[in-house]
Amino acid sequence: MNIVCLDLEGVLVPEIWIDFAALTGIDALKATTRDIADYDELMRMRLDTLAAHGLGLPDIQAVIDRMEPLPGARAFLDDLRSRYQVIILSDTFYEFARPLMRQLNWPTLFCHQLETDGNGDITGYRLRMRDHKRAAVEALRGLNFAVVAAGDSFNDTSMLAAAGQGIFFSAPANVTAAFPQFPVTDSYPALTAAIDSGFAAQ
Ligand SMILES: [Mg+2]
Repeated sequence: MNIVCLDLEGVLVPEIWIDFAALTGIDALKATTRDIADYDELMRMRLDTLAAHGLGLPDIQAVIDRMEPLPGARAFLDDLRSRYQVIILSDTFYEFARPLMRQLNWPTLFCHQLETDGNGDITGYRLRMRDHKRAAVEALRGLNFAVVAAGDSFNDTSMLAAAGQGIFFSAPANVTAAFPQFPVTDSYPALTAAIDSGFAAQ
């Protein structure tokens, strides 16, 4: 009874806002939590910028539709889903992730939701809950599942710590250095092997 919990951006798909900024040429959207630490302030700036450029949800989804999962991500995920239950835990929004989820064959995704008006304009966003990745892993373990979790950034570390085994995938050196207890992987075959041995050890 094993469940794999995976982060989305940086593990299976590119960073959506960074790619969106590149595809549209809107430089302000390159900002991340490294530039604006307050998440609410960052999201307000992003939504104001989208509105200023007249971009509603259908326009945004058309841009995201041009993005692709990372090379090899679909085959990695298909293999994993044939052998384990897999849940993707992400801080993105369902409305943004949808075109990429289609290309990944609709895996299970827990994330957040945007609020839109009748014209498709984004009016706000709703975080389902704070630190939901950690809460999901703890809840699954409470249901007697063994959990292995993998992610690439600081916002994944509480999830990695809550799992029976946490694993870094393609994480920056400053992130892996701050959490030396988690094994580091940089390719899908290495991540698959680390997941398999993570369950074998539980
Ligand atoms: Mg990530």
